[in-house]
Amino acid sequence: MGQVVTIDGPAASGKSSVSRDLARRLGWRWVSTGAFYRGLAYVARQMNVDLDDARRLGELAHSKEWEVLLDPERTSVLFRGQDVTQHIFAEDVGGIASKISHYPEVREALLGAQRACAEGPDGLVAEGRDCGTVVFPGAPAKIYLTASSESRAARRAAEEGADPNSIIEAQKVRDQQDSTRKNAPLSVPKEALVLDTSTLNLDQVVDQVEAFARRQLKL
Ligand code: C5P
Repeated sequence: MGQVVTIDGPAASGKSSVSRDLARRLGWRWVSTGAFYRGLAYVARQMNVDLDDARRLGELAHSKEWEVLLDPERTSVLFRGQDVTQHIFAEDVGGIASKISHYPEVREALLGAQRACAEGPDGLVAEGRDCGTVVFPGAPAKIYLTASSESRAARRAAEEGADPNSIIEAQKVRDQQDSTRKNAPLSVPKEALVLDTSTLNLDQVVDQVEAFARRQLKL
């Protein structure tokens, strides 16, 4: 297993952009663990799976027909050979992902595949909600990103070309669900570097995260 840096935080706190740039600077791979939940959410909706049926969702998550590719630009998700990545990053799919991600059946089914991303000699930047607490609890460098709800909504609205006011409410619901659930809630890992990114640009955040990671990993 290669070295791992984890980056956790609430919705649209900049985890993916920071992970992508950090991985590029370190010459490592990166994974969005949220893409696993989003892919499952999207496919479950397409297949009209009952979103209250934890057992059925767990079975679907266990299917051998998933493929997750760690591209330098993003984490791609394929189901039955079909690339669904372009559909999964919308806020409504995030909402379904948040709804189904509290089921232990779903989390257990996805955990092994998420951990497998660290196999091989290269290092991995893993981002999500529980990367530092559950997926890679032994990671030597853990980061927790946060930002005001206004700046997070503005970022996502700009990405999606949507109205920030409609996004802010959806993100609040998602953050509330993600941080109050019983299984692997969003929380600050012990010894994490906590960074509020509200007033920082991307390079300023990545500079701080890179310096911390290099110090922790003695790179
Ligand atoms: O990070 P992202 O917004 O893509 O995650 C989508 C949803 O997937 C989150 O709101 C959360 O409910 C779930 N998730 C999770 N654990 C992770 C990553 C994401 O429960 N490690």
